[in-house]
Parts: sequence; structure tokens; C-alpha cells
Amino acid sequence: MTDQADQTTQLSCQELVELVTDYLEGALSPEAHFRFEAHISRCDGCSVYLEQMRTTVKMLGNLPVGLPACAERELLDAFRGWRSS
Ligand SMILES: [Zn+2]
Repeated sequence: MTDQADQTTQLSCQELVELVTDYLEGALSPEAHFRFEAHISRCDGCSVYLEQMRTTVKMLGNLPVGLPACAERELLDAFRGWRSS
């Protein structure tokens, strides 16, 4: 069951998207940070997504702090809309 052990330490793309603001704030635990970067290094889509988030954060100046989950989701939806337009 070594494959299963690998999977439990591997982030899905959805999990990565949920962690990206914490990552950019440096708010992840060392373990989560490691898993995040491990995913980025092998997933082109998330690598591009992270760079776009970095650019967005630069434009905004900084990240909003302490948003409730629902507001984060709205930001994410707005961001997705911006990407596809
Ligand atoms: Zn990914």
C-alpha cells in the first residue's frame, strides 16, 4: 500500500487552490508548504495559476486578511472569470 501512502501526502489541484493565499502569505505549516511546492513542481496548470495569483497580489498591493470562506470563494470565482475572459 505504498501508493496509498504517497497519495495521502499529495495535494489535489483543488486543495492547492484553497491553499494558495496562505502560501503567498507564508501562513502554511512547513509540511503544507512542502506539499504545496511538491505539487507545483509537477503540475503545470497549478504552476501557472500560482504565477497568476502572485501577479494579482502584486496589483492589489496585498492580500485581504481574515476573509470568511465564502468571501474567498467569491474572489476565486471572480478570478476564474477574469482568467477565462
Ligand atoms: Zn495541480
